[in-house]
Amino acid sequence: MSIRKTRFAPSPTGNFHIGSARTALFNWLFAKSINGKFLLRIEDTDKERSTKTSINKILEGLSWLKLNWDDEIVYQSKKQKRHKDVALELLKKGLAYKCFCSKEELEEMREKARLQKKPFRYDRKWRDKDLHDAPKDVKPVIRIKSKMNGSTLIKDIIQGDINVSNEEIDDFIILRSDETPTYMLSVVIDDYDMKITDIIRGHDHLTNTFRQNVIYEALNWEKPTYAHIPLIHGADEIISIKNAVKWFKIEKVGRSPAKFNQDKLINLNSYYLKKIDNNKIIQYLQNYYEKNYNFKIDNTSIKRLNNGLDGIKERSRDLNQLAEMAIFYCSKFPLNISSKAEKLLKKIDKTIIKELIVEFKKIEESFIKSKIEVIMDKFLKEKGLKLSDIIQYIRALLTGLDVSPRVYDVMEILGYNEVNNRINRVING
Ligand code: GLU
Repeated sequence: MSIRKTRFAPSPTGNFHIGSARTALFNWLFAKSINGKFLLRIEDTDKERSTKTSINKILEGLSWLKLNWDDEIVYQSKKQKRHKDVALELLKKGLAYKCFCSKEELEEMREKARLQKKPFRYDRKWRDKDLHDAPKDVKPVIRIKSKMNGSTLIKDIIQGDINVSNEEIDDFIILRSDETPTYMLSVVIDDYDMKITDIIRGHDHLTNTFRQNVIYEALNWEKPTYAHIPLIHGADEIISIKNAVKWFKIEKVGRSPAKFNQDKLINLNSYYLKKIDNNKIIQYLQNYYEKNYNFKIDNTSIKRLNNGLDGIKERSRDLNQLAEMAIFYCSKFPLNISSKAEKLLKKIDKTIIKELIVEFKKIEESFIKSKIEVIMDKFLKEKGLKLSDIIQYIRALLTGLDVSPRVYDVMEILGYNEVNNRINRVING
């Protein structure tokens, strides 16, 4: 019997994250458990998004995890000629066809589907059309002929038997109008050429499997076995009530004790915090500040809070943290100073800051962030400084904190007079 092979086929378009590492591990473990081979293919066909840095991260990540691969690495971009040839072969055999639809026509089909609340499917306009009708000014794509009736069964080792009506699978594109192959085609050909017998990949690829199956059948190639592994859901996954009701099955409740996930709770809290109306938050702040700091929010502060709360919400986990962070927008004097900000203030270069406020005076009448930015850029350049040399000190001066919304936003919202006063109090005080 010939040797069985798995593969890990990442697209080098970002970080080598925990989900990728898990897919690689499962492929590696499976290959080792059957004395098979574990191959690596870099799917670098998306020229705009693929980067050398990302390829290096994948290789370093795999090496660090000791998930060593067998044989030479396959780079998908180097196989494009072969992929194109297969597409042309399918065309020649009448198993694929040229489609001359313009962007506008496709957009119309999409719009129609949107109105009918149906998923978009290409209407097979060119499947049996005479090529004499082809417009001269449109470069065609090549689409594969998928079955128009019946259903397709995929036997997945993890997901079980999945049956999908062929009506769900449209005549998708295999060769673009610039003659580059699509991902759907390249994957099948590479898996075949690399003699991959077992495909283990994320559950998000399951719909692709049904499409790729069309290509296997057209080419009469033996299909691999499939195992689509469930994805890792992060602490930020939010399920709508509608889906929760739809998905809930009491018999699926696991036997093992549930773990309380504090991170998830914090995440949910910050998610819902962003959705609370600012007026409600201001009401909450009124009570909070009165109770904890014995001061009332005045109208100037309400105005500033209305402009600045979104930036604060983004950075807060809960209402108490939000209240502590938002207090600098209020006309409370002296500012609450955090211990980290205190340390910064001790190290401040007063001469530089004094020179900077002289510059700010020039835009006193129109103290908006775009102008503040110009003044700052010019000032830093003249002084040979970087923004990071100075921005934390300004933040501490204006907010009493070491973490806050963007300093330029804060400056605009506080206004020139307040910025000037807050800085002067510390510098000259
Ligand atoms: N390149 C695809 C991805 O990174 C994986 C393709 C596959 O496993 O078939 O998601």
